[in-house]
Amino acid sequence: MTMNTQGRPTTPAEAHAMSDITTVSGSRGLQQREDLIFETGCPNKTGVDLPKPKGTKSRLGGVTRKRSTDLPGLTEPEAVRHYVRLSQKNYAIDLGLFPLGSCTMKHNPRLNEKVARMPGFSDIHPLQPQATVQGALEMIDQLATWLKTLTGMPAVAMSPKAGAHGEFCGMMAIRRALMARGEIETRTRVLVPASAHGTNPATAVQCGFKVDEIKANKRGRVDMEDFRAKLEDSSDIAGIMLTNPNTCGLFETDIREIADLIHDAGGYFYCDGANFNAIVGRVRPGDLGVDAMHINLHKTFSTPHGGGGPGSGPTVLSEALADYAPVPFVVKDEDGFRLIEEVDGKGEDAFGRLAAFHGQMGMFVRALTYMLSHGADGLKQAAEDAVLNANYIQARLKSVMTPAFEGHCMHEALFSDAFTAEGIETLDIAKALIDEGYHPMTMYFPLVVHGAMLIEPTETESKAELDRFCDALESVARRAAQGDESMKGAPYLAPMRRLDETQAARKPVLRWTPPSPEQIAAE
Ligand SMILES: *Cc1c(COP(=O)(O)O)cnc(C)c1O
Repeated sequence: MTMNTQGRPTTPAEAHAMSDITTVSGSRGLQQREDLIFETGCPNKTGVDLPKPKGTKSRLGGVTRKRSTDLPGLTEPEAVRHYVRLSQKNYAIDLGLFPLGSCTMKHNPRLNEKVARMPGFSDIHPLQPQATVQGALEMIDQLATWLKTLTGMPAVAMSPKAGAHGEFCGMMAIRRALMARGEIETRTRVLVPASAHGTNPATAVQCGFKVDEIKANKRGRVDMEDFRAKLEDSSDIAGIMLTNPNTCGLFETDIREIADLIHDAGGYFYCDGANFNAIVGRVRPGDLGVDAMHINLHKTFSTPHGGGGPGSGPTVLSEALADYAPVPFVVKDEDGFRLIEEVDGKGEDAFGRLAAFHGQMGMFVRALTYMLSHGADGLKQAAEDAVLNANYIQARLKSVMTPAFEGHCMHEALFSDAFTAEGIETLDIAKALIDEGYHPMTMYFPLVVHGAMLIEPTETESKAELDRFCDALESVARRAAQGDESMKGAPYLAPMRRLDETQAARKPVLRWTPPSPEQIAAE
């Protein structure tokens, strides 16, 4: 039997044979089977031993609960093991390469964590008098300066708490600007390319606009002919939402012309900045004519995400939109740093407020730490290495897989399913990759490519790791091209086999109900 470096069978036939092995415990290898905490625990068990309260009078006024709360009781080691086992079921950036495209899953430097835990940042309260948190306000201001400098934009709203929230912020600023022009009733149409991330059309609709889809051309970019046609009657144009580099991993080469045409039509240019990681230090969106762009600190600037932490989506704004930025924002005057909290005075044109407080402080600290530890030259190099890594993957796999478009890519490599034999699809490739120890790439997105497979390695990965990943994917792709039917049953080695994902998404079972006494008796 051939083994890979982890001692697992490598040939499909042997992997297939493994699927017949069942265990009495339900565990596989050293991966323990894990039940719900409600199934393992019971209400009358506890991990602590408290003395019975003596002589205290109930102050509940006769509304004392009669039934037990049915919270699961566990001993301390049982509770610890439960959560450690659950944590082992997660795939994480600290475990291995995370090829998800459009997500920028990059290393979260430990230095960021150390700085974020400094008491001056972690032990303060947002309602504390501002004179006592001048350093924290200065930190927000310094991060804002970096974001404005890197994007070439004059203003930034710091409070949005995710990319989608930043989109909402940018489109609300555009709404507010149209209101100021007295055109909010007439300018209702927002153009969105077919390859856009789903949050773009969703945001436009949530802000009260209608979405008009622009076609992609054969090169995976905006079809300029279609775009111009959409602008013929431009009296109802509010703007465009465009991602650059786009979700096909390609730079929109006509972006300057797109910006000019949308401005001539009286609209605004929203740029989805989720892919900023590819161009930091090389391109300033402000120079391209962008009016608003969110920055995912949890993608481009390395703060943890994907189950690891909250997002943060500061949104940079052009001169035309700067006054409409939401409160609160930090200003500096002779008394030091100060928060403008009211839609009044300095903040009189603000479209409102997006969040209870100033934004994700912990993420701000991590992002600024990342910037300061890399320096301007280091940030530029990270972008260049991310693009180099993606192109390496595209070059290594293009003889076995089908690149979706000709030419070099930016930070992500996109393949279609054209190379697979009849009956084998993208899903089967993703599942077979799990048996090889890798989280699958982004699948079936963007929608403009058939059976899309979108891979973003980021600058985090070394050449050795990229090669290991490519070896695994290459072998899976060859099996797909040969029509290896065993792939339909993958994954064979994971704790769970193929799950009914449609059923799980459409009819999720979110509530555990205890078995009835009859059920227990029957067992
Ligand atoms: C991630 C992403 C978003 C949304 O960002 P969240 O922080 O997940 O809300 C929007 N657009 C693109 C292209 C993205 O990749």
